[in-house]
Amino acid sequence: MPSYIDIAVNLLGSALEPDTASIIQAAADQGVSPLIVIGSDLTESATAIAVCQQYPNQLYCTAGVHPHHASEWQADSKQIQTELCQAPQVVAVGECGLDYNRDFSPRPAQRQAFIAQLELAIELQKPVLMHERDAHSDFLSIIKEYRPKLTGALLHCFTGTRAQMEAYIDLGLHLGITGWVCDERRGQELAELVPFIPKERLLIETDSPYLLPRSMRPKPKSSKNKPEYLPYIAQYIANLRGENAAEFAKQCYHNSLSFFNLSQYDD
Ligand SMILES: [Zn+2]
Repeated sequence: MPSYIDIAVNLLGSALEPDTASIIQAAADQGVSPLIVIGSDLTESATAIAVCQQYPNQLYCTAGVHPHHASEWQADSKQIQTELCQAPQVVAVGECGLDYNRDFSPRPAQRQAFIAQLELAIELQKPVLMHERDAHSDFLSIIKEYRPKLTGALLHCFTGTRAQMEAYIDLGLHLGITGWVCDERRGQELAELVPFIPKERLLIETDSPYLLPRSMRPKPKSSKNKPEYLPYIAQYIANLRGENAAEFAKQCYHNSLSFFNLSQYDD
């Protein structure tokens, strides 16, 4: 059975959290392990580390401030985040970036928090897990400046256009692809782009509990997406790319291990 790593699970504060143990087990039964839990603000990141400690080798996490929470960024945030990032369970800085779709935080605050976290990732020489929605041009100009000094930069849940994809690839970004691609309406453009992502730059993720793959049959009873569905997404993307599913899964697994420095799982 192929191995998979779900690189973006929104476990905390979500519909998944009450069932953490069974979510982890059901995923592992499908070969999906470890899972990377997203930290979207500093308090949640601290909780994520504590939960990872309860599930050693099964959970890792990120530590950061999502653009939705950027207005909470304060003078001492960088220091707190630096300390959180020292925990061995933290495999990336983030989730950070820009979201001009929801604009939950003012845009100048989003840019400030994003830049501060890129600087932190550079200081700590840790990879960064990023989010961008409807903010391509500002995101690009910021990441262009910081990319040369970053050890690794992943744009998770990429859903952009071909030109955007090419710009990100040219800058050496990794792209995370979710079950969005399985949506026959809004995922159509992404489905056409996915074959053009260089194989060593592609990571797969559920972004659960969001983005349940719409094409799953039989349709799961709950609309809640789960890490155990990652093999379905992998198979779907492999088909789009015209690649052997097992080979594709193996490539993605190794991409994830090397991006997040999880070489202890390398066989
Ligand atoms: Zn995101």
